Amino acid sequence: MQIAIVGAGMAGILSAIRLTEAGLTDVSVYEKADRLGGTWRENTYPGIACDVPSHLYSYSFHLNPDWSHPYSPGQEIQAYLEDVARAHQVDGLIRFGEEVVECAWKDQQWHLETSSGLQDKVDFVIAATGVLHHPNYPEIEGIETFGGSIFHSSRWDHRVAIDGARVGIVGTGSTAVQMVSAVVDRARKLSLFQRTPQWIMPQENPAYGEEERADWIQNPQKLQKLHTSLSELFAGFANGIVDAESPQMTMIADLCRQNLEVKVTDPLLREKLRPNYRAACKRLVISPNFYESMQKANAELVTEPIECIETRGVRTDDGRLHDLDVLVLATGFKVDAFMRPMSVIGRDGKDLSQVWADRPNAYLSISIPDFPNFVMLNGPNGPVGNFSLIEVAEMQFDYIMQLIDLVHSGQCREVSATQVAMDQFETERVEAAATTIWSTGCRSWYLDDRGIPATWPWSFDRFRAEMERPKMVAYDRRG
Ligand code: NAP
Repeated sequence: MQIAIVGAGMAGILSAIRLTEAGLTDVSVYEKADRLGGTWRENTYPGIACDVPSHLYSYSFHLNPDWSHPYSPGQEIQAYLEDVARAHQVDGLIRFGEEVVECAWKDQQWHLETSSGLQDKVDFVIAATGVLHHPNYPEIEGIETFGGSIFHSSRWDHRVAIDGARVGIVGTGSTAVQMVSAVVDRARKLSLFQRTPQWIMPQENPAYGEEERADWIQNPQKLQKLHTSLSELFAGFANGIVDAESPQMTMIADLCRQNLEVKVTDPLLREKLRPNYRAACKRLVISPNFYESMQKANAELVTEPIECIETRGVRTDDGRLHDLDVLVLATGFKVDAFMRPMSVIGRDGKDLSQVWADRPNAYLSISIPDFPNFVMLNGPNGPVGNFSLIEVAEMQFDYIMQLIDLVHSGQCREVSATQVAMDQFETERVEAAATTIWSTGCRSWYLDDRGIPATWPWSFDRFRAEMERPKMVAYDRRG
């Protein structure tokens, strides 16, 4: 059986490892870049880290005793992913510099074509293309006229000097918050352009000591126990987040409010930083020191809306020009693209761009009706939140493997979700989304074009249970 994986990020590497372990060795991983790592390859801005504890943001089958911090920097995560791929000998399966541009279902096979013209025919496709990878460039008048250096946070230009520079950052998401703390002591002046304030969950991050790490090396069972206990802790949070009135949400709101009240001493600044929506409505931002950073003498919180960008800097609505050398757009991502712009043509010429013309959708975020033997990891409307997407991908993969097995064992040649299952799932999902914290009144990337959270709206326990075994009645099996 031939299988193609699109994308050599966290989920693509996982898939390659699991497939080869299962004895399926005819596997190719198509990767558009020249290096694996996905989001961790692309995001290299100062301060980048994962806001999920490193001992949880790890493959369950390859725990790492060497994490430097509870929340380790992005470079360490990138090195970890490369290390895992090498250790499990799947790095050789990756075809670098090959962006899949077309994927068409013909004669019970997927016909792939890459940007270099390479062609392939496979029995199954796993799209592991990630979510947050198409930069959202803001439409600000005059943006092209800026005389300094300007780039999106996920395209950090390391040739540009930050030390001693006047740096502007647009946005107040997780990215901007991490960046602020890393840049403030290097820049001459830091201006943070805030459109909406964020609730900030306090989270200390002291480095692990040598002894602690040596202990994990010598006692792998302790490392396993830590992974399990973190998983349980975060599952509890994930269960709470889908009920806006849960005790977990009250606790988080209290911690965030206290953080603001205690840490920000200037009452004017405090009010500028106070959100008017509920904590965790947007993705919860964690930081040990964002408020401290914003109170440094060279930091300024700019809350007047941006009017335009000029050669010298950013002009705000009040007529003021903020002179800048560097402007970083920490303005997030276009989150509804998934594997697009890749063209995907399913059964009877069905074009994914038309099926997804309104918004992306998939049964259990994995399978699309009439796109047989095509599955996604971290696909549309899947679980989001401050827990490990590696854990999510592992569960999804175990589920997907059972679909692959149907074809591999000869029980059918084609498998995809039925339209009935898709429609019923979507109706129930939209109904359940109404009571989640994400629906309590804020703008966020979790919301779709209708303002409905594009997420898994039920408990993490339900997700885990659903991922145990595909319900065969939900699948159209042919051939
Ligand atoms: P984001 O959460 O979508 O935040 C984008 C920010 O840019 C928001 O503050 C938004 O303002 C602002 N913005 C967008 N367009 C604007 C415009 N035209 N003018 C002014 N402001 C504008 O993006 P992100 O911070 O890159 O984070 C995205 C996600 O990546 C996170 O939620 C998280 O899932 C992930 N991430 C994770 C980590 C981690 O540690 N694991 C780190 C970074 C990112 P509004 O709020 O007003 O819309």
